[in-house]
Order: sequence, then C-alpha cells, then structure tokens
Amino acid sequence: MDPFGKYIKAVSARAADKEILKKAQDGGIVSAAYIYGLESGLLDGVIIADKEDGFAAAPKVATTREEILNAAGTKYTVCSNLSVIKSAVREYGCEKVGFVGTPCQVQSIRKAIKYPVGYRHVPDKIALIMGIFCMENFPYNGMKAIVEEHCGIKMDDVVKTDIGKGKFWVYSKWGDVKTIPLKDTHPYEQISCHVCMDYTAELADISTGSVGSPDGWSTIFVRTAKGEEYLNKMVEAGAIETKDIDAVKPGLDLVQKLALSKKEKNAKEVEHRKEIGLPVPY
Ligand SMILES: Cc1cc2nc3c(=O)[nH]c(=O)nc-3n(C[C@H](O)[C@H](O)[C@H](O)COP(=O)(O)OP(=O)(O)OC[C@H]3O[C@@H](n4cnc5c(N)ncnc54)[C@H](O)[C@@H]3O)c2cc1C
Ligand code: SF4
Repeated sequence: MDPFGKYIKAVSARAADKEILKKAQDGGIVSAAYIYGLESGLLDGVIIADKEDGFAAAPKVATTREEILNAAGTKYTVCSNLSVIKSAVREYGCEKVGFVGTPCQVQSIRKAIKYPVGYRHVPDKIALIMGIFCMENFPYNGMKAIVEEHCGIKMDDVVKTDIGKGKFWVYSKWGDVKTIPLKDTHPYEQISCHVCMDYTAELADISTGSVGSPDGWSTIFVRTAKGEEYLNKMVEAGAIETKDIDAVKPGLDLVQKLALSKKEKNAKEVEHRKEIGLPVPY
C-alpha cells in the first residue's frame, strides 16, 4: 500500500515570522504560505477555518494578514471550507484563491475542478491547494464531549487543542492543560472518517502536518510543479526556513507508519461495509 501518494520532495520547515509561530498549530506553514501569498500578490483571497465562540470553526474568505492569524491553529471539528469557494470568486471577486483543507476536502476541491458541476468560473481561480494531514475528525458535539466532559474545560475557555504523543490535549485561557488518552476519544469520531484512505492530503499542491518533525516544525510534501514553484519562492523570500527531512527526528518513518496504519485499518472497514451492503466511497 502506498503511504503518501505522489510527491516531488519532502522537507521539515517552519515560518520565519515569530508572530505566525506564536499563533500557529505547528510550524505555521499554512499561515505563512497564505500571508506570503497575499503580500506577494500570488494570492488575493484565502479560505480559512475561522475560530468561532466555543472553539467551533466556520469557513471564511480572508483577505488580510490579521484574519489569517486569527484563524491559525487546528480545530478538531468539521469545517466546510469548500462551501465558501464560490463566494470567494463571485462575491469577493478573487482571481487567485488559496485553499486549505483536510485530505477529504482536498479530494473534493480536485473533483470540483475536474467536474465543475455548479462551479462555473471557479476552477481557473484556484491558485494554491494546501492539505493538512488528518487521522480522524470529530463532529462538534463529539469534540465538546471530549473537552468538557473528559477534560473539564468549558469550550468558551479553550485556546488550543492538539493531538500528539497518544493523547488529546486541551489548553485553556486560564493556563490549564488537560489531556485524555486518544483511545478514549475514538467513540466520538466522525464515522465517515473510518472509510477515509488518505492521511497526508495526497491531492494537494503542498501537504503539511506535525508528524515527522520536532515540536514547532512541520513536515511538508511538495507534490505538484505549482506547489514546488510556490514553496521555492517562499524560501527565497525568507518566509520559511527548511531542513532536510532525513536530518530531523522522527522523520518520514513515523509518517509512513501512521499513514499505513490508517489505510490498513480503514480498508478493512470499507470491506466490512461492502459485505453488509452499505455504500462506500471506494
Ligand atoms: C481534524 C484534523 C486532524 C489532524 N490530524 C493530524 C494528524 O493526525 N497528524 C498531523 O501531523 N497533523 C494533523 N493535523 C494537522 C495539524 O493539526 C495542523 O493543522 C497542520 O500541521 C498545519 O499546522 P500549521 O502550523 O502549518 O498551520 P497554521 O498556520 O496553524 O494554520 C492552520 C490552518 O488550518 C485551517 N484549519 C484549522 N482547522 C481546520 C479544520 N478543521 N478544517 C479545515 N481547515 C482547518 C485554519 O484555517 C488555518 O488556516 C490535523 C488537522 C485537522 C484539522
Ligand atoms: S479522516 Fe478523512 S474523512 Fe475524516 S476529516 Fe480527516 S480527511 Fe476527512
């Protein structure tokens, strides 16, 4: 089984801008790419998962650095980023749109580009597709149960959530840090995630996630010529610093292990659902 999909190169990287690093989830690659895009004119509008009250997420078209920074960080809940793509083009008049999403959202946008039913005049306005690694996601009420019932923190008080080292982490604005073992979060997962066969956003121009790189850094797969050109420009402009992925720990071996474990587990679920007559996407 192919763990990562096609890619041109993989690196470990982080944003050069300290303000981005402070607000970002990992190496701030998504925010740095977006801000660089707007400031250099390579992009004129970007899709973000904005932070809402109660640490919910809402899709939004952003056109400023401030909006991008406000939306930095991972929300472990569904955010329909694709739903505002038409608005970016038709209401905001954007000609060069940056998109970010989980692997399933990246698949959806590639499908919309290839078969643009209902997406007239949109495909040629999509300038950059960024994908974030994703093992699983939670419906909002699932995340709320994890945060409030298991960790004892109110959703309104959450400033950051993270998954790492086998735990779900919740940070409150009062300085509390609570964790629960990841295995205890499984009942709250979105069940469609159990037939998902993509961990590293294989159809993105640039994919990024935390796994494989040290804390505060991100792992990046550059997958398309467009993604490579964009990343090279970011490096030349000093927007991000990069390291050879083979020179960092734990490196691609861990990404491979996790990607294969997701694919193998979910392939079994796909087969099981087929056997009992349920529809599956593959
Ligand atoms: C549900 C989920 C599961 C994940 N699982 C893993 C994993 O198993 N392993 C791993 O290495 N990484 C995982 N990630 C990715 C990781 O948490 C970071 O999002 C990624 O490393 C980017 O960090 P950054 O510092 O570059 O981005 P930042 O600069 O912090 O920007 C993050 C961007 O992601 C967008 N975003 C935030 N939440 C969502 C969302 N729910 N849906 C769509 N867009 C969103 C924001 O708008 C923001 O622009 C997951 C992310 C999500 C949303
Ligand atoms: S696990 Fe797959 S289906 Fe679920 S949110 Fe992540 S990419 Fe989407």
